[in-house]
Amino acid sequence: MSRQYLITGNWKMNKTPFEAAVLAEAVIGMDKSDSVRIMVAPSFLCIPEVARVLKGSDISLAAQNMASVESGAHTGETSVLMLKELGVSTVILGHSERRQIYQESDTLINTKVKLAVSHGMDVILCIGETLEEREAGKANEVCFEQLGKGLNGVDDLQGVIIAYEPVWAIGTGKTATPEDAQMVHKACRGRIAELYSSSVADSLIIQYGGSVKPSNVAELMAQVDIDGALVGGASLDELSFASIVAFDR
Ligand code: PEP
Repeated sequence: MSRQYLITGNWKMNKTPFEAAVLAEAVIGMDKSDSVRIMVAPSFLCIPEVARVLKGSDISLAAQNMASVESGAHTGETSVLMLKELGVSTVILGHSERRQIYQESDTLINTKVKLAVSHGMDVILCIGETLEEREAGKANEVCFEQLGKGLNGVDDLQGVIIAYEPVWAIGTGKTATPEDAQMVHKACRGRIAELYSSSVADSLIIQYGGSVKPSNVAELMAQVDIDGALVGGASLDELSFASIVAFDR
């Protein structure tokens, strides 16, 4: 089955609103094939500017996080309703930086996933093992657990994307070999087939994330179960992101 590639640039806490608008403008002009869809995830404060720039383009807009409740007395949080009104189609949830730095649990992430889905917001659910877990031979086990808990109570995976991001490969310059990444992607797709159905698993987009760069993107994307990339550092530079999204040109 042929799935479209989804390449998401996660800008994290980088770029001011002005700088983000300039980068978004550049992303619109990037050459890519029809099999590639591009998405950018600026920080909350940059979203209005980037949304203005992207309006009418075919570039999708994502947020990097979202509150677990719709509204109310939650100082410092950002709600799904606010994001939707600004034209955000997708929210990244369960990123390892949220799990590790902000102690987000699978239960909290699951609450956010369900809230997003109930509002028709697409979700990129990030999963992935630490180096210790990989060395202990637990990569699949950890991913299955994060998948099961993150998707608990989610009956329909339409609009849900998975990003496999081995924690040891994020921002470290170390990338999983295409073969290692493929093995985990295949296992996760198999797990989704067990939890849902094989047709749901077949149509599920599973992105790889972890030090994706121009020099390694093509061989990662050549793996049958890798359907795109979640790109951090290399998405901040116009030339390197342009070269990543044009990996099959
Ligand atoms: C990420 O933050 O999701 C990521 C994969 O970062 P980097 O590409 O910098 O490793």
